[in-house]
Amino acid sequence: MQTLTGLGVSAGVGQAEALVVSPAPGLPETDPKGEVKDDLATVQAALNKVADRLDYRAMHADAAAVAVLTATAMMARDPGLGFSVENHLKSGSGPAHALWDAFDEFCEQLTAAGGYLAERVTDLKDVRSRTLAVLAGLPEPGVPTIDRPTILVAEDLAPADTATLDPEMVKGLVTAAGGPTSHTAILASQIGIPAIVRCPQARSITSGTKLAVDGVTGTVLVEPEEEAVAVLIARAEKRKAVLDAVPEGDTHTKDGLRVLTLANIGAPADAIAAKKKGAEGVGLFRTEFLFLERQDAPTKTEQVGVYSQVLDTFDEDAKVVFRTLDAGADKPLAFADLGPEENPALGRRGLRLSQVRTDLLDTQLAALAEAAQKTGKMPYVMAPMVATTLEAKWFSDRAREAGLGVVGVMVEVPAAALRSSQVLETVDFASIGTNDLTQYAMAADRLQGELSDLLTPWQPAVMQLVKSTCDGAGGRLIGVCGEAAGDPLLALVLVGVGIRSLSMAAGKIQAVKAALALHTQAQCEEIAVAALAQPTPEEAKKAALALADPGMEVLVS
Ligand code: PEP
Ligand code: MG
Repeated sequence: MQTLTGLGVSAGVGQAEALVVSPAPGLPETDPKGEVKDDLATVQAALNKVADRLDYRAMHADAAAVAVLTATAMMARDPGLGFSVENHLKSGSGPAHALWDAFDEFCEQLTAAGGYLAERVTDLKDVRSRTLAVLAGLPEPGVPTIDRPTILVAEDLAPADTATLDPEMVKGLVTAAGGPTSHTAILASQIGIPAIVRCPQARSITSGTKLAVDGVTGTVLVEPEEEAVAVLIARAEKRKAVLDAVPEGDTHTKDGLRVLTLANIGAPADAIAAKKKGAEGVGLFRTEFLFLERQDAPTKTEQVGVYSQVLDTFDEDAKVVFRTLDAGADKPLAFADLGPEENPALGRRGLRLSQVRTDLLDTQLAALAEAAQKTGKMPYVMAPMVATTLEAKWFSDRAREAGLGVVGVMVEVPAAALRSSQVLETVDFASIGTNDLTQYAMAADRLQGELSDLLTPWQPAVMQLVKSTCDGAGGRLIGVCGEAAGDPLLALVLVGVGIRSLSMAAGKIQAVKAALALHTQAQCEEIAVAALAQPTPEEAKKAALALADPGMEVLVS
């Protein structure tokens, strides 16, 4: 038996034989050129065919898959793609090469954007493979028909394939690439298939090999021994019992301290899915996702529509937080480029960009105010990357002038965390972005995988900055909306230092609720004191686990 490890992204244990999904077709050897206009029409027709097929599948898919299939179809219909193909045809490429290069450009932009957007690259490459197959007159690439229990193993899985998988037949997914916010991960957990991503050793698995997978710990057992599988199953059953025992409704600690459990979203469809997963509201709507990949900013009317949809998803008194445009650095905007910078992560990003492009910010604030009127619900609005008291005041004045009543800032720069009592003076709430706070506190680029030891929010220095923010909050509601909030054990530490609102990927909410239900406020405080006293992230985690309820053992990976 061999044990491989990846990132568990969809809980559950499965065992079956592996089916390795063969790679998508590459560029054809010959690519005859015709008139630009004719070649463009051929490529457009192929793209439309792919989009139509995806839309057709969306019509016959269940609710969880519809949004992904429709979004993928929209990529195929993106007019920007057509323009780019035309440019490549005009500079002498044949249709297949023009298509390939146009997609490459889009993929590069998304990869440079990082995070959620970078994980959309898989979706784009899937559209490209399907279109190339149409151009070459080949059958659609992807997962073959599955008629017996199987664990799919792939380099990465296309969302259009994942969306229509039958959990009765597909007992697990293992991909070498992918990430926790890739559509494969999101869909797998929606459909209920155990899934593991970022498991490079999976490349050595061949079809027919017996596998067992645990989607919580990220374990893949190759040719597993019976006892090892029994251990995985027993752990999964225990975890299910703990999750099932979580009381329904609002989130509380064991002794009744109210903590909000909210979702991070990037689009209105995410809000609907998050509500189904128990989100009480939204702690972070990354509104920049409406702006990226576009040649022009979305109009006020378009924004009012999107914001209203999100507000309407939740009850009147729900906390729904809109973060204003967080562009620049790893999320460049075509229409708000302030020129090249030596260190973009330390440059004119976030609020600093909004202070230059006040037109973009003011339209956004006006759209939020109009959405509030239209829906009768009061949005929370917050600015990203606030470092100083003056910046916080500048934003707060502007948002209130626009008619917004609940104004906050993100605390993701150590300076703001250290001086929170002054920085928060003019605002109503704050949300700590632990992803950037960790990057800036540890001076470690968050996009640099090799620095992952420094980049964990378990770093005592990062936890101390979270505590410092809470200590200076003067009674204001302080939340966390970075990845840290979705770690059930770390959530206890966060509540222990004063955090009362946790916002995370929707799939993580139930486990965090379970963790809080197992502990009293005093226990969280005790765990926090112990974790913060440790010299390293590993020791902090160990100290927290040692004081936590034994039920936590099955909730942590
Ligand atoms: C963060 O920095 O923790 C955060 C939530 O914002 P983003 O990940 O979008 O930078
Ligand atoms: Mg951030």
